[in-house]
Amino acid sequence: EYFPGDFSKNPMQRNTPKVLFSTIDPIGFDHPKLIHFNSNLAAEIGLGQYDQNDINFLVGNHLPENIQPYATAYAGHQFGNWAGQLGDGRAIFAGEISSHSGKATEIQWKGAGATPYSRHADGRAVLRSSLREYLMSEAMFHLGVPTTRALSLSLTGEDVIRDVMYNGNPQAEKGAIVVRTAESFLRFGHFELLSAQNEYKTLEKLTEYVIERYFPEITSVGVQKYKDFFENISKRTADLMVEWYRVGFVHGVMNTDNMSIVGLTIDYGPYSMMEEYDLNFTPNTTDIPEKRYAFGKQGQTSQWNLWQLANALHPLIKDEKFLEDSLNAFGTYFWEAHDNMLCKKFGFDQLLEEDEEFFTNWQGLMQELQMDYTLFFNVLETFNEEKDLKSQFQKVSYGILDDKSLTKIENFLSIYKIRLDKNKISRNSSILLMRENNPKFILRNYLLYQCIEELNNGQSEVFYELLHALQKPYEEIIPKFSGKRPIKYDNIPGCSML
Ligand code: AMP
Ligand code: MG
Ligand code: MG
Repeated sequence: EYFPGDFSKNPMQRNTPKVLFSTIDPIGFDHPKLIHFNSNLAAEIGLGQYDQNDINFLVGNHLPENIQPYATAYAGHQFGNWAGQLGDGRAIFAGEISSHSGKATEIQWKGAGATPYSRHADGRAVLRSSLREYLMSEAMFHLGVPTTRALSLSLTGEDVIRDVMYNGNPQAEKGAIVVRTAESFLRFGHFELLSAQNEYKTLEKLTEYVIERYFPEITSVGVQKYKDFFENISKRTADLMVEWYRVGFVHGVMNTDNMSIVGLTIDYGPYSMMEEYDLNFTPNTTDIPEKRYAFGKQGQTSQWNLWQLANALHPLIKDEKFLEDSLNAFGTYFWEAHDNMLCKKFGFDQLLEEDEEFFTNWQGLMQELQMDYTLFFNVLETFNEEKDLKSQFQKVSYGILDDKSLTKIENFLSIYKIRLDKNKISRNSSILLMRENNPKFILRNYLLYQCIEELNNGQSEVFYELLHALQKPYEEIIPKFSGKRPIKYDNIPGCSML
């Protein structure tokens, strides 16, 4: 069931009916250069240490004899609309590797050349977007958020032309390849494709495969098994969203083809960590009018995406009432998990009825006083009543704190203190809870920007500092990274998708 045509004669190939994947080799590059190799991840997934010849594998030049690279077809809903068939346009699978403990990991090159699913795009990736995926996926991993990971970052030695959104002019950028790994790169979109093509037998096979390999907790049989699968992936997705809210991650392109069927953060594009608290914040400049994928909408968006998955699985489950109930249950489950997560950030041992009001008031305060989401919790944890209130909070606000604002903070703090007194755990345990749930280091957009500027000039000081800091995000390893964004970076560009 692979792509039967000669791809080299028809590089604009896109629609490949009845085809789930196509064999395709990486294009290969003559002058590649390794920027970084993730030795810890290599050891974890069952690879050896880096050897200088490995660069040829990492950019797809030299393929071991026993592997046959391929790209997969999927479909998806993009910005709320059915987009039909898509596919891995610049990701090519090298295959799967087994660790010493027997755990299987899929390996992909991203940016190694066009595939039958590239449409009119070039299958390449630039250093800017590759660096952003390389650092952020590892940062998420160390924050404890389910994610795909990154094994290596290399320059291809080739220039790639991109129409960079922040200046609108086509520009040559350095080409790069990230080798990324995951338990599975399967997406909601793979199920949507089969369902839309009425390939129900294959849909069933795929579902069976996914349940057996990635959902060992499901032990039921028959249709119940598929129902349990849908409920499981709904829960995993809700849990993932709660984790994004905990650390302030905004994905930016939550199309159904970017939703992992095993509940991972996948496809790092124009994402950003939120700095000033704003439910309407989106880093995606193409999503400005609608703000469909804004921070505050990620919960409801993932529910909408699950609804598309429900439609795709309907031919197997054939029970509308079940699917509807299950989607409704997502809302309840998500909000409870979300509020429990906020409790931990505040150092509360359990969720109380009054907390909903407390959270709403707090959100209002954050938004109005332009508080940095991450740093606010750091101040709350270390707040000293003896010291000047203004200096402690001005450090974490992007606005100017006048007397009126300070009174609001004071009021909030007194309510917070009363709420803390309702804890059944000690003050120390409460602080521990805060430390475990509130990062001290997040990969801010301006830091990535600095890092990219430097790398483009052949320097890598910030790169190594960031790599170091992101491995211990709950500690303040490099103090200069744990403050608010300097004013001069207020208007730096986000990152376009490509
Ligand atoms: P995204 O919005 O990044 O998830 O991408 C949507 C679709 O476009 C996916 O199928 C990608 O594989 C494809 N795509 C994105 N960038 C490129 C590129 N440079 N070359 C080929 N395909 C691409
Ligand atoms: Mg994608
Ligand atoms: Mg992408």
